[in-house]
Amino acid sequence: MGSKVGAPEKLIVNGKRLDGRKLNEMRKMDIKIGVIPNADGSSMVTLGGTKVICSVYGPKEVLPRRNLDTEQAFLNCVYGMASFSTPERVRPGPNRRSTEIGKVIADALAPAIFMEKYAGSEITIIMEVINANAGTRTAAINAASVALADAGIEMRDLVCSIASGKADGQLMLDLFEAEDNFGEADMPLAVLPRTKEITLLQMDGMLSTAEIKKLTDMSMKACEELYKLQKKALQEKYETEKDASE
Ligand code: ADP
Repeated sequence: MGSKVGAPEKLIVNGKRLDGRKLNEMRKMDIKIGVIPNADGSSMVTLGGTKVICSVYGPKEVLPRRNLDTEQAFLNCVYGMASFSTPERVRPGPNRRSTEIGKVIADALAPAIFMEKYAGSEITIIMEVINANAGTRTAAINAASVALADAGIEMRDLVCSIASGKADGQLMLDLFEAEDNFGEADMPLAVLPRTKEITLLQMDGMLSTAEIKKLTDMSMKACEELYKLQKKALQEKYETEKDASE
C-alpha cells in the first residue's frame, strides 16, 4: 500500500480501471477440477493474472503425531508461491507471510467442513500460486473449497472468497497488482454462501466503517456469483465422469 517506485499516475481514468474494468467488476474467474490425478481432490483457479493450483489429500494419518486432535480433523493448509510466480524470483520455501496465509485459510475453510467427522485424521490442502497478480489468498480459498469437495470431504457448504479495496480514492472489487501495490486499502473476505457466515476478513491499509460496510456488500454480491461458478465447475467434472463411465 502507499507510494512505491513505479506507481502509475492514476489508477482510474475516465471512470475505468487500468485494466478496463468497472469499479464493481471482478476479473474473469476460471475453475478446473481434478487437475492432479494423484491427489484425492484438486483444482486450478485462474482469477485474471492470478493462478493457483490446489491438491487435497486425506483424510489420512496425522503426521507428525503432535498435530493429532482427537476431537476434530487437523487441517494442514500449506500456501506457497512458486519461485517463478512473480516477475522477481520468490525465494522458495515457507516464510512469515506464507505461514500466516496458511493459517487464515485453515480458519476460513474449517467452518465449512464437518471437522468432528474426521477426528484424529489429517486433511492436507496444498495451495501453490503459480502466477501472482494480487488476490492470491482469495483465489487459493476458492481453489481449496472445490478441491475439498472433489476429494469427497463432507462439507456444510462451499467457501467463496474475493478481495475488495480502495485505490485512487474509489472503492472497488478484486484489486489487481497495481491497485493492490499503489492503492489505499485491500480487504480480502471469505464467506459460506448459504448462511452468509464470514470466515475470513482481513484489511491492509485504512478504511472507514462506512467504507468497510460498502466493500463487504460488494464482496458478498460477488461471492454469490463465485458460488455459481464453483458449483458449475463441480457439476461439469462429475457429468463428464458419468458420461465416460456409461
Ligand atoms: P494476496 O495475494 O492475497 O493479495 P498480499 O496482499 O500479501 O496477498 O499480496 C499482494 C500481491 O503482491 C500478491 O498477490 C503478489 O502479486 C504480490 N506479492 C506478494 N508477495 C510477493 C513477493 N514475495 N514477490 C513479488 N510479489 C509478491
